[in-house]
Amino acid sequence: MNNKDDADAAAVRIAKGAAQPPSMNPAIAAAPGQHRLSASALVRGITATDPVLLGKAITLLESTRQDDQAVAHTILEQCPPPNGPAVRVGITGAPGVGKSTFIEALGMLLLDRGHRIAVLTVDPSSIRTRGSILGDKTRMPRLAASPNAFVRPSPSSGALGGVAHSTRSAIRLCEAAGFDTVLVETVGIGQSEIEARSMVDFFLLLVLARGGDELQGIKRGIMEMADAVVVTKADQDNVVAAQSTKRAYHRALALSAHRESEWRPRVRTCSAITGEGIGAVWDTVEAYLEHVRANGYFEMHRKEGARTEIVRTVEHILCTQFFARPGVDAVLARLQKAVANGTMTAAVAAREVLASAQDGPVS
Ligand code: GDP
Repeated sequence: MNNKDDADAAAVRIAKGAAQPPSMNPAIAAAPGQHRLSASALVRGITATDPVLLGKAITLLESTRQDDQAVAHTILEQCPPPNGPAVRVGITGAPGVGKSTFIEALGMLLLDRGHRIAVLTVDPSSIRTRGSILGDKTRMPRLAASPNAFVRPSPSSGALGGVAHSTRSAIRLCEAAGFDTVLVETVGIGQSEIEARSMVDFFLLLVLARGGDELQGIKRGIMEMADAVVVTKADQDNVVAAQSTKRAYHRALALSAHRESEWRPRVRTCSAITGEGIGAVWDTVEAYLEHVRANGYFEMHRKEGARTEIVRTVEHILCTQFFARPGVDAVLARLQKAVANGTMTAAVAAREVLASAQDGPVS
């Protein structure tokens, strides 16, 4: 557990003056007279749209501690299903493309239209560095200050599988808290987008205007997942270049493979600073939703997403339980050198790790 988790876990303890129930997490055992907020108290907070308690529950989801996970799962089970599931939109793009400025502009527009907006992030960079390419909620100050918006900073620990897993559950909690639109931001470096695509209804790729035909090293796979490409910063001296980049993407997408959704991806330009084009981007999202609701793809994609969610949860549970078994770490440590210097393949080592843990019971 890192300091942030410690701090958040500590913060969920509240003074009660009552007898202390046994803490689920001895490392953060409460001081006498205090106890952790219970799962049901967190559920009540979430359903009352308390952003602090929603944040605490998501921190428990992201925690790598099994006891925190257990509380998080109880919360997920106890949260009532939302009145209607939120619209889930994935937004990706390279660092500096203008994601946070765009999300703030789009979020403010949607708030004006009476929506309630949650912003979640999947940022695998934060796993390695404990820092984050996406940064934190100070990137969207106006949105974060609104009582009808919830902006969640990037998780600061865990494996990508874990982060993706917790993001799926965090979407559910945001829906239970009454947010009707969930924006899932990813950093645009590959694997996280593949995971994110299965979590969201609509996937938006933001790109910079460069002029000419060059398509900026965006991985083709990401482009093929995008339901719309938006050229950002189409303002000031950049308008002509943005139009030219728009045409280049339009041509590239016209050549891309037929999609199961039977949707022809759109290319738009916008400026998050002037607000020009932001509304048209949301019109595109709505046009897509109408299209896929009518042809049945919406439901099919949600079902496939649910299947992936179950599979990822199984993987997560199995891995967490397996690596917690006594002795597994020691076997890993013994074999890593041989794999590093090429005298043993990772597959042979993996089988040995698996065999070494056969005897212990799965908890
Ligand atoms: P992110 O790293 O993708 O989240 O990008 P940011 O939203 O932090 O934006 C990166 C830089 O681009 C910042 O200096 C923004 O002020 C600037 N920027 C973002 N959107 C626009 C825009 O629509 N027009 C202009 N001119 N600058 C923008």
